[in-house]
Amino acid sequence: MSARPTVVVLGAGFAGLRALYRLHDLSDRLDLVLVDARTTSLARPALPEVALAGRPVEHARFPIRDAAARHGARFVNRSVEQIDLERSRVVFSDGDADHLRYDAVLVALGAQKDYAAIGGFSDFGYSVCDDTEAPRLAEALEAFRGGPVVIGSAESSWGSRVEVPRLAAPCEGPVAEIMFMVDHELRRRGLREGSSIRVFSPGAVFFEDVGEKVRTGVAQLADRQGIEVETGKVLDHLSAGKAHFADGTAWDSALSIVLPPYAGNPVVQRSRGLGDERGFVPTDTAMRHLDLEHVYAAGDGAALSMPKLGHIAVMEADVAAAAIRRDLTGEGDLPPHRPEVFCIANRGGHDATLIYSNTLFGGTTDLTLDGAAAHLMKWTFDSYYFHTKGHLPPDVATKGLELVLRGVKR
Ligand SMILES: Cc1cc2nc3c(=O)[nH]c(=O)nc-3n(C[C@H](O)[C@H](O)[C@H](O)COP(=O)(O)OP(=O)(O)OC[C@H]3O[C@@H](n4cnc5c(N)ncnc54)[C@H](O)[C@@H]3O)c2cc1C
Repeated sequence: MSARPTVVVLGAGFAGLRALYRLHDLSDRLDLVLVDARTTSLARPALPEVALAGRPVEHARFPIRDAAARHGARFVNRSVEQIDLERSRVVFSDGDADHLRYDAVLVALGAQKDYAAIGGFSDFGYSVCDDTEAPRLAEALEAFRGGPVVIGSAESSWGSRVEVPRLAAPCEGPVAEIMFMVDHELRRRGLREGSSIRVFSPGAVFFEDVGEKVRTGVAQLADRQGIEVETGKVLDHLSAGKAHFADGTAWDSALSIVLPPYAGNPVVQRSRGLGDERGFVPTDTAMRHLDLEHVYAAGDGAALSMPKLGHIAVMEADVAAAAIRRDLTGEGDLPPHRPEVFCIANRGGHDATLIYSNTLFGGTTDLTLDGAAAHLMKWTFDSYYFHTKGHLPPDVATKGLELVLRGVKR
């Protein structure tokens, strides 16, 4: 290893930026390099509001260069082709022979949202998962004059190298958020009576990643709003005016909003030995690669991330950064790998539902908090992240919130 080791962080989403934040005090002893193909970091939790509540898309992204500089890292704005694991270097897609050598590399490249896997999507489907799809849906909704709306997640499948709950969908929080926000928007515009909202889930239950209490709470809210939810429906393809399912049924649809299947990032798929069968990076609970020294992963692209949630990406980045610190400097302790589901789904206007559950991981916490307070928390979180360009509220605020929630629900 060189005198001043180089740590390369691939990807400037929640996971990559959080890892840099945790490592930045080492910037006088380590060369920190952040690589991303984009110039802006995209806050995906803000995208349903871009699609369905008139939020400007510019408010869902901020410059990566500023975030890198604040953490003492050099920003390399290039697309990664693959990681040359034998020679410990990152190879770029522009064909330039100028590779980037690393002593430790954190793979935080997210997952591929595989729209192409849904037949008919480009002609008949809409989504919210990135900053081209969300504005496209906003336009479609503006032109919508009523009719059947179909919303749901396509089925995803996962590799087998690590033990995780194998969910049928990466995370159904965005589906719940979209169905309530569409309902609110159609009511606001006087179009709800002439419209139906049908939601499909590929799983045996809707919201597989939470417990019975949260599931019942969400089902009651959906019922109250006249939103119909069906489970065990695997989307096959879309056509003009229809959503077709693997069981041979088809639903009428004037507007189909679909969360696509997730696949491993193509970089992982191209780097032989890095990914599992599905292109996700297998790690232990310290986020160290199962087979490769000085290779780490965090966020949606890590096989251990289940469900695929920003909250889990951040928790994993904390662990991965601690493992890198320990491996390169011998300092510090590893925080525990303790996944939990924590998210806030807007429901239109000033309403939202906060979901906090760890039953999927053997815990007993399973609660929701509905109403304006939850909406204010989401607004505060999103604004803080946007205005600080990628900082999360301090740990003490998060811990305080946890205590309040446990107290409220006791
Ligand atoms: C609509 C929606 C709403 C959501 N709402 C919530 C929520 O309310 N709460 C929550 O906790 N989670 C939510 N999530 C999930 C959350 O957004 C993800 O879990 C999180 O963004 C994952 O972060 P990441 O850093 O792993 O990946 P990403 O955010 O995908 O970042 C990966 C980065 O890698 C870069 N990259 C990829 N390939 C290359 C390449 N070849 N070369 C260079 N750079 C590359 C990308 O440009 C990107 O910047 C939501 C997701 C969606 C889709």
